[in-house]
Amino acid sequence: MVVATNLGFPYVGAKRELKKLVESYWSAKTTEAELRQGVQEIQAKHWKLQQAQGLEHIPSGDYTLWDRVLDTAHQFGAIPARYQNISNPLDQYFAMGRGLQKPATETTPKVDVPAMEMKKWFDTNYHFTVPEFEIDQAFTLQNPRAVEQFKTAKALGIQTRPVIVGPVSFLKLGKPVKSGEQFDTLSLLPKVLPLYVELLKQLAEAGAEWVQIDEPVLIFDLDAETKLAFERAYKTLKAASSLKLLVAAYFGRVENNIYPLKDLVDGLHLDFVRAPQELEQVLPLIGENQVLSLGLVDGRNIWINNLEQSIQLAEKAVAALGKDRIFVGPSCSLAHSPFSTEFETKIEKANPELFSWLSFSVQKCKEIVTIAKALNEGRDAVKAELAANAAAVESRRTSPQTTNKEVRERVAQIPASAWKRASPFPVRREAQVKKLNLPLYPTTTIGSFPQTKEIRIARQKHNKGELSDADYDAFIKAQMKEVVDFQEKVGLDVLVHGEPERNDMVEHFGHLLYGYDFTQNGWVVSYGSRCVKPPVIFGDVSRRGPMTIDEIKYAQSLTSKPMKGMLTGPVTMMKWAFVRDDIPAKDLCAQVGLALRDEVDDLEAAGIPCIQVDEPAIREGLPIRRADWDAYLEWSVACFRLSTSGISDETQIHTHMCYSDFNDIFDAIVALDADVITIENSKSDEKLLKIFETKQYTNEIGPGLYDIHSPRVPSVEEMKKRFADMLKYIPDHLLWANPDCGLKTRQWPETEAALVNLVEVAKYFRSLK
Ligand code: GLN
Ligand code: ZN
Repeated sequence: MVVATNLGFPYVGAKRELKKLVESYWSAKTTEAELRQGVQEIQAKHWKLQQAQGLEHIPSGDYTLWDRVLDTAHQFGAIPARYQNISNPLDQYFAMGRGLQKPATETTPKVDVPAMEMKKWFDTNYHFTVPEFEIDQAFTLQNPRAVEQFKTAKALGIQTRPVIVGPVSFLKLGKPVKSGEQFDTLSLLPKVLPLYVELLKQLAEAGAEWVQIDEPVLIFDLDAETKLAFERAYKTLKAASSLKLLVAAYFGRVENNIYPLKDLVDGLHLDFVRAPQELEQVLPLIGENQVLSLGLVDGRNIWINNLEQSIQLAEKAVAALGKDRIFVGPSCSLAHSPFSTEFETKIEKANPELFSWLSFSVQKCKEIVTIAKALNEGRDAVKAELAANAAAVESRRTSPQTTNKEVRERVAQIPASAWKRASPFPVRREAQVKKLNLPLYPTTTIGSFPQTKEIRIARQKHNKGELSDADYDAFIKAQMKEVVDFQEKVGLDVLVHGEPERNDMVEHFGHLLYGYDFTQNGWVVSYGSRCVKPPVIFGDVSRRGPMTIDEIKYAQSLTSKPMKGMLTGPVTMMKWAFVRDDIPAKDLCAQVGLALRDEVDDLEAAGIPCIQVDEPAIREGLPIRRADWDAYLEWSVACFRLSTSGISDETQIHTHMCYSDFNDIFDAIVALDADVITIENSKSDEKLLKIFETKQYTNEIGPGLYDIHSPRVPSVEEMKKRFADMLKYIPDHLLWANPDCGLKTRQWPETEAALVNLVEVAKYFRSLK
């Protein structure tokens, strides 16, 4: 029979219970015993909930207090030297994840260790802890999480399927320690495998039957050596273990990366949401004794599954392999989707139609069960579920809420001329120089100024209705005036309004656009205990009306210096939201691009001479496979240009990116054709500037002069040195002076001191001319 399975569950909990627990432990309000007790209660609730949905393979070992890759490193003893003298294992674990600062006491010395590096988990917005390995790394097995959790569930009478991070992914996702010799982390495979054998043994002894081994690196472009490592690893594990091994890949296609696993393991889980086209190639590769686990329900989003479509795909697999060799499940762990729609009472009331299209993790479990039941017992056995789903799918397809005819027509008819500025940069520059009359090395900031407690309180009061619109408006105006006066006093050249009215660069605009909505409880983990609640894009996007004109116009009225309008770019507006999956990403991006274009045009008409369109998400949106990069960059760059090309030559377009490591997409950045780009730089060890040795950037550019993530005030001397470095690569007339990023997380005193110094640096270099 087809088995209904799950790969992982949103461990943070329905109401972010885990966050509260660990944060209380960190502030010493909860003891370790209380923390463990609390965590077991959450786990028990989650297992029972999944069981109640009808799932047969329920995961254990997917629960983590910080990150599953960190769990793996910690349990195998891959603990960097700087954490080794922290004696309590739990505190050591958290120190690795989030750093630890403790003053000395009478009996213990002072502790001050930073966290290990975090990196984005494939193309999700989750960040994992990057393991660090020594060239002669020794591994030990201590207190494996999967065994512990499996036993906890068992004691409750629930048979679970333990999940572990596989050996090849564990090593491949790690890095050699910085100070040591460079080596290929995969060379440690022979050392770590015996401990994996031991881990499987412990799971078998505890009574497990299947074990899910996550090997998401199977979706990378893999070299021959890594493929060999897969063969070697799973030959060893299979020979040594009586357990049934299910190797799981997700987030993309695997292509021929799975060849080495043919006939080696007992089952493969693949992501047929991201790569439905792979089913036909994969079926002949599944050996006679192997199970194929079909990832059919999208674990990355919030939308209902098209059950009929999933059943049809699964039927092809059943026809080829038989019911006994098929599992169905989510595409990946459900930890990337929010908990349950039951808490979305606002949407349920205000927009029942939209509510009927939503499916969070709990609902997704039910969808998986329904698909399995339809395959096992026929569609009639789940008639009501299928009918309700078909109706919701149909309403979503045809609803005026998702489809706005005018927007569709406008996108279909974008003239070729709208995708680029009317004149090439040198011509625009001449017009802008004349209009703006800026000094050499103009100074500016990236947009936001300190978001003080006062601002947050006013916003909260306004949201609660305790502060009237008029009073809030007056408050925001006063804030803008303070920021403008401050910039005048400091002597900056291109001013900003400071973004006091924005809580977040995406959510703020989401409220001003059609097609966006907001959940009450749609939290997903970003890293550790930190969760984000992305807006939802459910329909065609267009402006409700002008979005920023009043504020920017007011700010401009306060000064004779040029004011810079401030918008969030189309790619970032999409990437930092839950996006609809019923139209292609590039069409949605064009819709957002057009909405922004209208705003850019209005800003110009209101007399704003400079307009910045931030695109920090372009780099992070890059697809995993190289072969997919060009197509992505083509539409994402085109949509940025669409939003910024409706204006005359003399209006100056700025853009900003946070990621210093943009060398691999340099050509795309050139293709944005912004008049000025400001870019994070101060932490990049000149990596950013190095590219200019071989490639030329011909438009204006402001690599950040100081790091805004720290309260530290950069001295004039250190910024002078950085500026001199930049002048080695960038011609005088193209160089700007600015910080790395927005200043919203900083306090006023350090902001003032840093910007005074920055202006002094620009003046100093002008005086040399
Ligand atoms: N304009 C935004 C700010 O200054 C840019 C933020 C970002 O790049 N992440 O805050
Ligand atoms: Zn930034």
